[in-house]
Amino acid sequence: MRISIIVANWKMNKSVSEAVRFVQELHSSLTENDEIEVVIAPPFTSLNSLSEKFKDSPIKLAAQNVFCMPDGPFTGEISPRMLKDVGCDYVIIGHSERRDLFNESDEMIHAKIVAAIKNDLIPILCVGERLQELRSGQTEAVLARQLDSALQGLRSTDVERLVIAYEPVWAIGTGETASPEDAQVGALWIRKRIQALFSAKISNGVWILYGGSVNPENAKELLAQRDIDGALVGGSSLDPKAFLKIIQTAVQAKRNK
Ligand code: PEP
Repeated sequence: MRISIIVANWKMNKSVSEAVRFVQELHSSLTENDEIEVVIAPPFTSLNSLSEKFKDSPIKLAAQNVFCMPDGPFTGEISPRMLKDVGCDYVIIGHSERRDLFNESDEMIHAKIVAAIKNDLIPILCVGERLQELRSGQTEAVLARQLDSALQGLRSTDVERLVIAYEPVWAIGTGETASPEDAQVGALWIRKRIQALFSAKISNGVWILYGGSVNPENAKELLAQRDIDGALVGGSSLDPKAFLKIIQTAVQAKRNK
């Protein structure tokens, strides 16, 4: 049985002191349990300070991005080895903001996935359709292209530990959410694609999260869906109280499954 994973994607928000304060508040209310993994993806500048805070904590650290090369003349980039060195367990790859605002191609995303796995980082691969792709009935074709390209050539053992976030682009940061039923359809479609590419065993083990305007009010129904193993949360992860509520909802949803 898969545990649940709740990921906070803070994007370009919070100074180091704000990040530390958030984590102190979250720690004071978070009760330890082994049914759920809580992951925080702060900006690069806070990774080191949070890593210190997470030493005796169940909270895991993620980076929001990574470059595919191990080192060298790549001004402004951060390598997987550096992320591992600073204490990251996870890295978000292929977020729609990276794809759209920074022109990250499917090929680049594939290279980042390979580099992350090689350095023992768990990729959180984001996939999802844009609004016009949804309207023109291309959702499945888009998901297929993004998944097939990102995962091509990987071994089953690499995919076993993968986290995939189904994030309809039109739902990110807009306050619009996919209905729980549509989110489940998307998650199940992704799981079936993994089965076709690898095996039923692998697809049953892969974590599939939903992302797109998840908040304390809509989390319950989304997280109750059979193939949704957690959430990638942007806006609502910036407030410790709202984020804690989503975590608590996930624990309850997991117990009810
Ligand atoms: C995200 O950044 O991945 C995201 C889902 O953001 P939000 O929750 O704000 O829609």
